[in-house]
This record gives sequence, structure tokens and C-alpha cells, in this order.
Amino acid sequence: MKLLKDRIINDGNALSENVLKVDSFLNHQIDPVLMKAVGEAFIERFKDTEITKVLTLESSGIAPSVMVGLKLDIPVVFGRKRQSLTLNDDLYTSQVFSYTKQETNTIAVARQFLSPEDKVLIIDDFLANGEAANALMDVVNQSGAEIVGFGIVIEKAFQSGGKILRDKGYRVESLAKIESMYEGNIKFVGDTE
Ligand code: 5GP
Repeated sequence: MKLLKDRIINDGNALSENVLKVDSFLNHQIDPVLMKAVGEAFIERFKDTEITKVLTLESSGIAPSVMVGLKLDIPVVFGRKRQSLTLNDDLYTSQVFSYTKQETNTIAVARQFLSPEDKVLIIDDFLANGEAANALMDVVNQSGAEIVGFGIVIEKAFQSGGKILRDKGYRVESLAKIESMYEGNIKFVGDTE
């Protein structure tokens, strides 16, 4: 998605060879016009697929997810992150190790918001090692719903998450795929020199 890649080049900040900061349009300040375009790009990529619900993780997955939900007129559910959770029968829970924060969180989704009839598109802001995606997948599997695919705003293709999900047979659509971020120089998969 050219608009997104241009924005990453112009406003993204590669903090290291592994971590990209996009606080000015996605992770802190949000650009709604760009998010609308991101939502439309996901819908275009999954237009051949029936989707009844979008599932994401708070907080940065919510903006792009709402754009998809708005356009398709379907609900958006976000997994809530908690440091610790008391046992609660009304929740699906899973563990996620946060790559950027270096801590393990429990994520929880109320059972009432996912049912076996649902066809779920999982959306997240970043795909790195696949921990967040794996936890969301676990939650959907507990509910008996079907995962139609993963919509990722920015995939860091040099980390293992994308390969793991695709090797499991999942459809993963990433709008910007970063090949490397060597010395602050962001290179996308498919870019020629
Ligand atoms: P994963 O679980 O795939 O290892 O990492 C994905 C999650 O970690 C995303 O939900 C995102 O919040 C965060 N994350 C991973 N890498 C980055 C990064 O380079 N920049 C930012 N801003 N967040 C990241």
C-alpha cells in the first residue's frame, strides 16, 4: 500500500534494527484519513471472504479495525490486556509476550462476543514474532469460530511471525512489509535498489 509505505518512510522512526516507531499516525497520534484508507485496503484484500467480526488487541489495533467494521457494518472486538487475571468463566484468555515491552500479559475476550458461527478477521498494527497474533488465534479457537485471515498494518518480514502463520496455512495480508531497517534505512519487501 503505497500511501502507508510513503508515510512510514516520511514519519516512521527506526529506533533500532528491530523496532519501528510510528507514534505520529498509528501508535499514539492517529491519522484517521490514513486509517480509513488502511481499512479499505483490508476490505479489498479480503473481498472474496465472508467476515462477521473483526478481532484485534487494545490499543493500537482498534483504529484500523473500526474502519473495517464501519465499512462492513460488523462488530469489532478487542482483546483486553491485563497484568493478571482472576479466573473468570465468562472469558476466553491467552498469554501474550510483548516484544516492545518485554513483559507477559494475559489477554481476555468475553465469551459473549465470539461464537462458533463467527468468521473472524484478526487485525493488528504490527506483526513481529507473532506472539500477539498467536494469542488472538488461541482465543478464536477456544470459541469455535473460524479465522478467515490476518490483516496486518505493518509486518516486519525479517521476524518470524509471518512465516509461522503462513506455514500454519493462514492467509496473512500485510499492507506494508518491511524487509530491513538497517541504520534507520527502511527497506520494504519487493523494493528494488
Ligand atoms: P509480535 O507479537 O508479533 O511479536 O509483535 C506484535 C505486537 O508488538 C504488536 O501488537 C505491536 O503492538 C508490538 N510491536 C512489535 N514490533 C513493533 C515495532 O517495531 N513497533 C511498534 N510500534 N510496535 C511493535
